[in-house]
Amino acid sequence: MTTSKIEHIVIVGGGTAGWMTAAAMANRLPQSLCRITLIESDAIGTVGVGESTIPHIRQFNETLGIDEATFVKETHATLKLGIKFNDWGKIGDSYFHPFGEHGEITQGIDFHQYWLKARKLGEPYGLEQYSLAAMAAFAGKFPLSTQHKPTVFADYTYSYHIDASAYAVFLRDYAVQRGVKRVEGKVVEVKQHANKFIQSITLENGETISADLFIDCSGFRALLIDKTLKTPYLDWSHWLPTDSAVAVPCERTANLQPYTQATARVSGWQWQIPLQHRIGNGHVFTSAFTSEQQATDILLSSLPGKALAEPKVLRFKAGRRQYSWQKNCVAIGLSSGFLEPLESTSIYLIQLGVSKLLELFPDKHFRQAEIDEYNRSISQQYELIRNFIILHFHVTTRNDSPFWDYCGNMAIPDELQHLLSLFAESGRTDIGQFGVWPAVCIGQNIIPKYYDARLDNITEDQISGLMTDQRSKIAAMTHTFPQANDYIAELLARGIP
Ligand code: FAD
Repeated sequence: MTTSKIEHIVIVGGGTAGWMTAAAMANRLPQSLCRITLIESDAIGTVGVGESTIPHIRQFNETLGIDEATFVKETHATLKLGIKFNDWGKIGDSYFHPFGEHGEITQGIDFHQYWLKARKLGEPYGLEQYSLAAMAAFAGKFPLSTQHKPTVFADYTYSYHIDASAYAVFLRDYAVQRGVKRVEGKVVEVKQHANKFIQSITLENGETISADLFIDCSGFRALLIDKTLKTPYLDWSHWLPTDSAVAVPCERTANLQPYTQATARVSGWQWQIPLQHRIGNGHVFTSAFTSEQQATDILLSSLPGKALAEPKVLRFKAGRRQYSWQKNCVAIGLSSGFLEPLESTSIYLIQLGVSKLLELFPDKHFRQAEIDEYNRSISQQYELIRNFIILHFHVTTRNDSPFWDYCGNMAIPDELQHLLSLFAESGRTDIGQFGVWPAVCIGQNIIPKYYDARLDNITEDQISGLMTDQRSKIAAMTHTFPQANDYIAELLARGIP
């Protein structure tokens, strides 16, 4: 009897995208009904970077039943409470973009509005002094979330720095144990049906593998979605001009900070990501404005420890595939798009890609309305994140190089322009946007002209009392938190269940 159910899925690529997809599918799709095969090529390898994550990864692990101690041990993870940005608005500035909210949302009015009013009244404290995550991060501490719920700071959350290659290996074991078949080999040919749906792939050794659904996780090569289906790539490099990175790990320092550092450089920016056994470093730059040698020299001269490998150069182009899902092929990971790593969002986009696919899981009819819905929601997320990243580069008074001149003066997407003007006027934000806008805007010196008019009903004494109260609560709570490194050590000592 013929069935319309998808019986065989082939995933091409075994990087972070391939193994996250395989693991999530193995967890959710009954193997008795649907076989999953993943093909990866040891000769080609993976992109081998991608170490900073956002809190959604915890939800991914929870869904897969991966406990925190195992994850932290297997991926050499450290805690991440946010990102410290240095030299962005202008040289010498720094600010913290925390996961979660600042202060308390009182009477439905965002906390940064109270901060704005307090500032107009002469209050000297920065916005980050009202972020539990920021203050804990600067003290090297970890706010155990269970300890302070349901207090005013319950919206705080956290993530990790991970060895992404180790995460892929861990997920490979997870997926293979749950029935995913791993095939090592290089795909050299892709055959299509008359209607252009993908029929099979052929490996270098001559083996041909057919399937109903193909997932393209082949990275920048985009073997199926681009080379076979010719899906156009929407180029966003006029808004995000960085196109290269040089990366090198170095020896770890004694104290590992529970945050990522992103330091603006003359033609790009540099990351510093602490893991248990090393620190990941990279310099993202724009080849139109600087050479590979200059970028490497800047990176190597500012490492916090001794380099542990030769610098590795990567090239990319910001943008996204016009359709991540075409016919019977879904692109997940770098094959579906690339937004530069400033806000550590790529692994999140992989997670989103696979969870949306499971939500809209097709049968062999491949209904166009479901495909359209997938493409709509993925492209929407890409665009929200893109705008948030552009914001960091555009909102600057730096004019010390052609790169910063370009970023400060470039035309930006209309929606972003509107939201920036709105914030600059009255500090209002759109809850549907991605990221924590007040932290970044205020951190890069956009101080709104006016605060929320509803705060005119609150007296100066009330505002001042509220701000003092919040600062002292944060100070008291931070005092009780464990050191972030002790929390990691405790997880490691707990061992794998
Ligand atoms: P890849 O890792 O390139 O894997 C591709 C796979 O396809 C490999 O297994 C390869 O063998 C296989 N393959 C290709 N061609 C063939 C073929 N012909 N036959 C068989 N197999 C084939 N993300 C974050 O979330 N946080 C970060 O901090 C971060 N930093 C980054 C920094 C830089 C400079 C860059 C470039 C990216 C960064 N990313 C980050 C993104 C992150 O690295 C990727 O999203 C992630 O690694 C997923 O990559 P991938 O699996 O799509 O591709």
